[in-house]
Amino acid sequence: MRKISDWGNYPVIEAEVGGFDTAEQLRAKLEMPGSVIAYGNGRSYGDASLQENILLVRRFNKFLSFDETTGTLRCQAGALLSEILDVFVPRGWFLPVTPGTKLITVGGAIAADVHGKNHHVDGSFGQHILSMDVMRNDGSVVTCSPEENAEFFQVTVGGMGLTGVILNATFRLKKIESAYIREETVRAANLDEIMDCFEASGDWTYSVAWIDCLAKGDALGRSIMMRGEHAASGELVNPKHRRAPLEPRKGLQLGVPFTFPNFALNKLTMNAFNFAYYNKCRPGTHQSIVDYNAFFYPLDAIDNWNRIYGKRGFTQYQFVIPKAAGREGMRKILTRITESGLGSFLAVLKLFGEQESFMSFPMAGYTLALDFPISTQAMDLFKELDAMVADYGGRLYLAKDSRMDAEMFGKTYPNADEFRQAIAMLNEGGTRFASLQSKRIGITD
Ligand SMILES: Cc1cc2nc3c(=O)[nH]c(=O)nc-3n(C[C@H](O)[C@H](O)[C@H](O)COP(=O)(O)OP(=O)(O)OC[C@H]3O[C@@H](n4cnc5c(N)ncnc54)[C@H](O)[C@@H]3O)c2cc1C
Repeated sequence: MRKISDWGNYPVIEAEVGGFDTAEQLRAKLEMPGSVIAYGNGRSYGDASLQENILLVRRFNKFLSFDETTGTLRCQAGALLSEILDVFVPRGWFLPVTPGTKLITVGGAIAADVHGKNHHVDGSFGQHILSMDVMRNDGSVVTCSPEENAEFFQVTVGGMGLTGVILNATFRLKKIESAYIREETVRAANLDEIMDCFEASGDWTYSVAWIDCLAKGDALGRSIMMRGEHAASGELVNPKHRRAPLEPRKGLQLGVPFTFPNFALNKLTMNAFNFAYYNKCRPGTHQSIVDYNAFFYPLDAIDNWNRIYGKRGFTQYQFVIPKAAGREGMRKILTRITESGLGSFLAVLKLFGEQESFMSFPMAGYTLALDFPISTQAMDLFKELDAMVADYGGRLYLAKDSRMDAEMFGKTYPNADEFRQAIAMLNEGGTRFASLQSKRIGITD
């Protein structure tokens, strides 16, 4: 038994934890009675990859094949996105979709069907999977794709590890000419301005906004949008970049050496941070060339930044509401968050495009993601926010969740009942796949 948690350090549990190097070793583990769940790199925030028996997938991380003409990569599910980037960016290839951290596994990217700054153009990670192999609870391996065993494929993408263990996946990387991004930053004075900016940025491949959730009144929703495109080699101005366009600058890696005391992150420090960050960006629109790590993964430059939230841990409240409800809904929800004074210094706003999937989180609309240190006041606030999100026809992201109840899940995910039935059927005989989250939100018992 050992102590283990996901990124938010809430909850922390004692569990039997073991990895595997081969499919045969995994099959042997699945012969044991009880229930299990796959654990990728623990970058989901809550308890999606936690329960009393945990299967670590990280060691299962080999690249199996790569086709230089089409960019088609086949790799084992424990490979990190960062490992893919390290090998393939220098050869001129990039991920089709990437979240705000590259320290996640391919299996975790499929199971949560992660989204990136290009969702409105390229959809979610699962939409780029050409095929994958999944080991079911009886040790059999199902090969599935949008065409082959299509129903099983649909419940596995966004299925949070409840259909089996993803062993490997095939997907296409995208061609790039440089490791740099042509970035444009735009400062928006309030919520209306940033929403207008999103509406006008549909042609940009990547767009996201950092939003100051502590600003009130006329400044409610003041933000900085960052939008970008992969830079062509001819667009690079710095001679060093031009000489080696596919070799990104080596950034400084910082670390948080210990868990902060709970009082360290208070309203004052958060206000100061938000004020400094907003004012760092001058009014108007500014262009620059930045390396891909700075654009996509600024937080990865600080190891263990989750420790600043102290021993009690933290959670991220990420919701999406349909575009039609966007302006009014976001204003009301944001007002409630700012009133509470519990808001975080990390809040991200994004406009999603359309998505037709069985269980995935994105829908055409606005999504906001905020970190909150765990406290009873925050838990009470989330209940209020849940009611507003549900009323506006929205939902919460399972990859960030550690506290939603079964009622909220059932009424906000339209396929919740069918998903529950499908998982019950797949779990018959042999080991069961279940997580603390799947039990809490009523998918498994
Ligand atoms: C700083 C930060 C920024 C983030 N930004 C974004 C973002 O922009 N967009 C976004 O969508 N997400 C984002 N996330 C969330 C993250 O991308 C997802 O939670 C992702 O699923 C984590 O992958 P993981 O490999 O760490 O898996 P884990 O967190 O260990 O597991 C996540 C889920 O995947 C399942 N799983 C893992 N491996 C397998 C496998 N081989 N087979 C079957 N199931 C498996 C687990 O059972 C669990 O249900 C962010 C997280 C952090 C910490």
